Formats: sequence, C-alpha cells, structure tokens
Amino acid sequence: MECHDASTLISAYLDGELTQADAQRLRLHLEDCRDCARTHQELRLLKEQMGQLSYPNADAEMLKLLEQDSVSLLGKWSGWLLLLIPGLVLAAYGLYEFYSETGEPILIKVLFGAFQLGMLVLFITVLRQRLLTYKKDKYRNVKL
Ligand SMILES: [Zn+2]
Repeated sequence: MECHDASTLISAYLDGELTQADAQRLRLHLEDCRDCARTHQELRLLKEQMGQLSYPNADAEMLKLLEQDSVSLLGKWSGWLLLLIPGLVLAAYGLYEFYSETGEPILIKVLFGAFQLGMLVLFITVLRQRLLTYKKDKYRNVKL
C-alpha cells in the first residue's frame, strides 16, 4: 500500500468503515510507515477530542428566554387584541349594514346567512376537536 492510498483510508478506518482486508492492509502499512502512523495517531486523538465536546443547546434556551420576555409577551398580546377587537367590530358593523339594507333581495340575505352559519359551525367544530385533543397531544411541548 502506498502512502497516498493509506492517507485516504485512515479516516474510514477510524470510523470502522473499512472491510477487514482493507483494515488489515492499512494496519500493515501503519506498522512500517512513520508518517502515516503519525497521521493516524493525530486523527485518532482529534476524533477522541471531538467526541468529548458538548454543545449547549443555545437555540432552545434563547427561544425560551424570548418567550418569557415581557416585551415579547406584551407585543404578542397587544398585537392580537389590536387585530381581533377592530376585526370583530368591523365584521359586526358589516353584518348590521348588510341585513339592515333594504335594497338587497331576501334570497341573497338568506344565502349569505347560511354561508356565515356554515363557517361558524365549521369553526366551532374545529375548535372543539382542537381542545379535546390538546391534552393528549404528545407533541405539544415540541419546540419548532
Ligand atoms: Zn505511509
């Protein structure tokens, strides 16, 4: 085995990915060649040191801090309130205007009312299913 071949196999050898025959041929070369033996030794030490490193889960900790941050919470809730309250008031005003309008045919009013009722029924059905399954949701604590 030449040094060039050995150098390309050392990493795979350390990872246990060589066939028995290739590993045996590499071991024979490492016994005879000081340069490749030194490379092997350095890579082995590097691999050991890499295995001992620990990585703190910075993203999860940062996400948790952001969720508990008072400015973030204030922004989140005020944003929802500013979106929902005017939206509901505008929707109620629009419905009042639509139904108090005398020019619209009664059929259109009935069809539109049925459409709205259907949307409401679907929303309540989905909300009910979501609430029923929430406690059993094993993924609810998974952070994305
Ligand atoms: Zn060599």
